[in-house]
Amino acid sequence: FVVQRLDLSSLVRETSDLLQVSISKNCVMKFALAEDLPAINADATQIRQIIMNLVINASEAIGDRSGSISVTTGVMDADRAYLSEAHLSPNIPEGEYAFLEVSDNGTGMTPETRAKIFDPFFTTKFTGRGLGLAAVLGIVRGHSGALKVNSEVGRGTIFKLLLPCADGPS
Ligand code: ADP
Ligand code: MG
Repeated sequence: FVVQRLDLSSLVRETSDLLQVSISKNCVMKFALAEDLPAINADATQIRQIIMNLVINASEAIGDRSGSISVTTGVMDADRAYLSEAHLSPNIPEGEYAFLEVSDNGTGMTPETRAKIFDPFFTTKFTGRGLGLAAVLGIVRGHSGALKVNSEVGRGTIFKLLLPCADGPS
């Protein structure tokens, strides 16, 4: 576990070639990366692993259809009401967070599926292992972060990762 001051946008930029070759050819990747993001304290390898997992899941949700995957970064103020709807580490404070959003216009999920996606070995895929999101959530918790999911069948899915700014939420 190697914690460094990191810029989420730079991390995504450095990973973008790997992302491009990891998704199916019918998916278009779109990036909207904020400049001058506040730094986060994080393990680059683990955050890259989150990004890879979310983007590959997005590609698999698009399947053989044509679709797009958007990766967006930014900074936001998260209040208690917002955080209470997220999967998060215990007692994370309100305040400023750098965020990374991965959205797709794939299959989306039913509420029943949505409720189980972080369970180890839960998968809806023929050859899935069901370990990606369980690992993602572990990393999020290890970084005192939060992860928010919105999904609608037939429309797509948005995963939003929040990580505390290095100077700490104010
Ligand atoms: P796996 O990809 O091996 O199935 P994951 O833990 O990565 O395991 O994901 C668990 C389940 O969550 C998937 O099988 C799928 O049903 C659902 N899922 C994850 N990401 C998405 C997404 N972007 N769109 C639709 N369903 C998703
Ligand atoms: Mg997966």
